[in-house]
Amino acid sequence: MTVPADHIVDEFRAALDCNAVLTGGDADPFLLDPRNLRTADAAVVVRPADTAGVAATVRICAAHNVAIVPQGGNTGLSYGTESPTDRPSIVLSLARLNQIESVDPDRWTITAQAGVTIEAVQNAAKAVNRVFAPDWGARGTASVGGGIATDAGGNNVVRYGNMRDNVMGIEAVLADGTIWDGRRALVKDSSGYDLKHLFIGGEGTLGIVTSAVLKLRPATPYETSLLAAITGLDALAPLLDLAQQHA
Ligand SMILES: Cc1cc2nc3c(=O)[nH]c(=O)nc-3n(C[C@H](O)[C@H](O)[C@H](O)COP(=O)(O)OP(=O)(O)OC[C@H]3O[C@@H](n4cnc5c(N)ncnc54)[C@H](O)[C@@H]3O)c2cc1C
Repeated sequence: MTVPADHIVDEFRAALDCNAVLTGGDADPFLLDPRNLRTADAAVVVRPADTAGVAATVRICAAHNVAIVPQGGNTGLSYGTESPTDRPSIVLSLARLNQIESVDPDRWTITAQAGVTIEAVQNAAKAVNRVFAPDWGARGTASVGGGIATDAGGNNVVRYGNMRDNVMGIEAVLADGTIWDGRRALVKDSSGYDLKHLFIGGEGTLGIVTSAVLKLRPATPYETSLLAAITGLDALAPLLDLAQQHA
């Protein structure tokens, strides 16, 4: 285990609010995954409450060569939140960035901080007769930031695409602590490079997602589940065609 030196932990405490830095037993719940397997050895968990706090944390880490492992709901189950062993590291939890910033049914968007759960976004969309389409089993714990970082797909992926197809804009904190605000909500946006795609599926390697503009869809009049037994792969494409026709 490589733990940041005490003076670095003191810098986190000085820059952030009193609930933001966890060590010892307080940090443990963030270092175990849902199977109770240890996924991080960081020993220090930093939980800023806003984007400015994330940026301050990243700046301190950059100054002291401390590695950062971003964490949302920690539901990934594939050791994406495991710590490096070659230098000190922290877990940077986005869980306290848990505000839905705006719901705009007329523009078909919700803007949510990275720590908001997928289920909370789905419920906010439902309340205005819209659908946030990405959906997977961990919806109640998995976060907007984690879903974006892994470009998760899930149950509705054939019809609505991965997270990438449901994100219009992103705010992210870069490796030097710069806040990049790319939260655009234009459907017809031809204004040059679409940099958000570098962060989607990037698992935090190019920046920490702090907020996103998410795309809403029309509410579906009814939903049903179907178990189809097919005789071979040849039958699969026509079955999907049929499903799309009736979508
Ligand atoms: C490549 C990949 C694809 C997946 N696709 C599916 C799927 O289609 N269906 C399904 O049910 N599950 C899928 N999963 C599991 C999926 O990761 C989780 O269910 C969920 O999306 C993760 O959300 P979380 O908030 O729990 O993220 P965590 O488990 O906390 O983190 C997951 C990864 O994202 C990084 N990360 C977390 N938050 C941020 C952030 N704000 N900014 C930058 N990086 C961050 C973490 O460091 C870690 O690498 C996938 C996992 C991976 C690794």
